[in-house]
Amino acid sequence: MERNLILDYDSGRIAAKLDRGEKTLVQNVRLQLHAAERLALIGETGSGKTMTALSVMRLLPDNVKMEGGKLFFDGRDLLAEGSIRPRLGTEIVYIPQNGLEFLNPSRTVRKHLYDSLKKLRVPRRDRESRAMGALLTAGFDEPWEVLDKYPFQLSGGMAQRVTIALAACSQPKLLIADEPTNGLDSDATERFFLLLDRVFPEAAKLIITHDIAVASLCDRVQVLCGGKTMECGGARQVLRDARHPYTRALLAALVENGMRESPPLRAQEGFCPFYRRCTLASDVCLGEPPHRIDGGTEWWCCRS
Ligand code: SF4
Repeated sequence: MERNLILDYDSGRIAAKLDRGEKTLVQNVRLQLHAAERLALIGETGSGKTMTALSVMRLLPDNVKMEGGKLFFDGRDLLAEGSIRPRLGTEIVYIPQNGLEFLNPSRTVRKHLYDSLKKLRVPRRDRESRAMGALLTAGFDEPWEVLDKYPFQLSGGMAQRVTIALAACSQPKLLIADEPTNGLDSDATERFFLLLDRVFPEAAKLIITHDIAVASLCDRVQVLCGGKTMECGGARQVLRDARHPYTRALLAALVENGMRESPPLRAQEGFCPFYRRCTLASDVCLGEPPHRIDGGTEWWCCRS
């Protein structure tokens, strides 16, 4: 059964205004995400993952603009509607990389939860029971123990679960998680995903990660390089039988160095952002790489 299309997004061109002109950061990245589906966005630092996610939430920095493109959420055209603010924290929820940094150090867990519940128009008399319920849902067996704690009194794992409790106050249709399992071991990572599925079974989940193990827990994978999509498809297929030279490089050597750019990507030198580092590159690659499709995988490359 085809599930609801929750996110239908095209970045168009996302560019930063700099002192000496403009720099394109992301170009024509298309994302489609259905209810209950997990999509991993992977790539090196600087590949455009976070900028793409910020543009989905329309939270780009002031000097960065999105030109063209589209943003449909649950069938509604959010670019035409204008402000996305009322949907953030309610229908679209962000789970940060570091719960401790995300939480306001001067506010208790109770204050954070009550603020979210107030935004959702939950009557004051119901806020305590709803806050307790959200903490229970997020895996706190004794929620009263954490309700009046400040963030500095929580461990990193507890703070991350508080951010899930905050999300659980509403029933979001779209979750955007930026490196949500950074620093967690593989068991804790798996538990985190089980928790996400238990708390938000129907939500579409966009997971930004540089961790292949995390990507393998998703349904689909989309590989970015230099702000462009290189390859996308079913996670198992892409991670076991990558078609694009960049994906293969990412899965081999680049993973070990934490996916840092080396040397820096220079998208302007050829159409393909991987041009300078690709062992298969030739003059042909200075044109537009063809779009190839085979089974469930799509990729853009002149050679493979
Ligand atoms: S063969 Fe050409 S188009 Fe394909 S990844 Fe290498 S440089 Fe890019």
